[in-house]
Amino acid sequence: MATFVKILIGSILVAYLAMKWTAPSFDPESLKGARVLVTGASSGIGEQMAYHYARFGAQIVITARREKVLQQVAEKCLSLGAQKALHIAADMANESDPERVVDFALEKLGGLDYLVLNHIGPTTFGMWEGDVEHTRWLMKVNFFSYIQMAWRALPSLEQSKGSLVVVSSVLGKMTNPFTLPYSSTKFALSGFFGSLYHELAMKKSNVSISVCTLGLIDTDSAMDKVRGITKVPAYPATEAALNIIIAGATRQLDLYYPWFTQVITLIKDWSPSLTNYIIQNSYSYIP
Ligand code: NDP
Repeated sequence: MATFVKILIGSILVAYLAMKWTAPSFDPESLKGARVLVTGASSGIGEQMAYHYARFGAQIVITARREKVLQQVAEKCLSLGAQKALHIAADMANESDPERVVDFALEKLGGLDYLVLNHIGPTTFGMWEGDVEHTRWLMKVNFFSYIQMAWRALPSLEQSKGSLVVVSSVLGKMTNPFTLPYSSTKFALSGFFGSLYHELAMKKSNVSISVCTLGLIDTDSAMDKVRGITKVPAYPATEAALNIIIAGATRQLDLYYPWFTQVITLIKDWSPSLTNYIIQNSYSYIP
């Protein structure tokens, strides 16, 4: 058993190092003047992505529902070095808003090099109480709007040899308690964009897809939910944001941040009962 564990850990390390060494290197200059649309950019990881793109000298359109906050983020982007920083308020639960936002970005920037899909609707953290209507609504915000925006932007991304960046979660790769509606939307994203990747590759498309699998990140909205309930470590939003941008710029199909989320997703298939035990015991819950 001890030998098996050593071989397992050794193989994971070798695979991880090989992946790191063969990963394409990131050239920050490639983002100067890049035309970028970031969703969910009024707070959290999306806001941090807007600031990084701004420091790299990109032209940015940001969107979310709160116009005033977006305006402040856009102003800060300009002060950080963005060539352009425009904002558009939109509610991704509305049928026509996803396309309206893409059309706005295409018109104002004259095309798109990056579409970064990041927004999520607010959801509860707790036992499933049968709220199907909320799940349906969350699917609209977290999933259907993503595929609407991606489809609308594809022709422009095709022309610019651009990138589609999808922000997802480890909860879209492995099941967990307390986040059933959210998890369902993230599993849907993995299925859709993982499949779209094949179709684009088979069509020899110019567009790259990066699906970003994140662990717990220290944004206000996430920390407000899990504080006192789990001891899972939270990682910095600004670093998560930078890693997502690099994944898109280097056209990586997958990003796992922090790195061990990849190991966890692998181990769950090799040892489901151990993984289930760890998951159920990583939350404080008294029935
Ligand atoms: P936040 O809750 O901080 O930000 C969510 C963003 O989405 C805000 O800008 C919000 O702005 C916007 N938004 C909410 N509802 C709507 C709506 N109906 N229409 C349009 N925009 C909306 O999220 P995080 O930064 O924590 O997460 C960002 C991404 O990272 C998500 O895809 C999430 O799943 C993923 N992730 C995060 C993790 C974490 O621990 N933080 C872990 C794993 C993945 P506004 O209210 O102004 O509309």
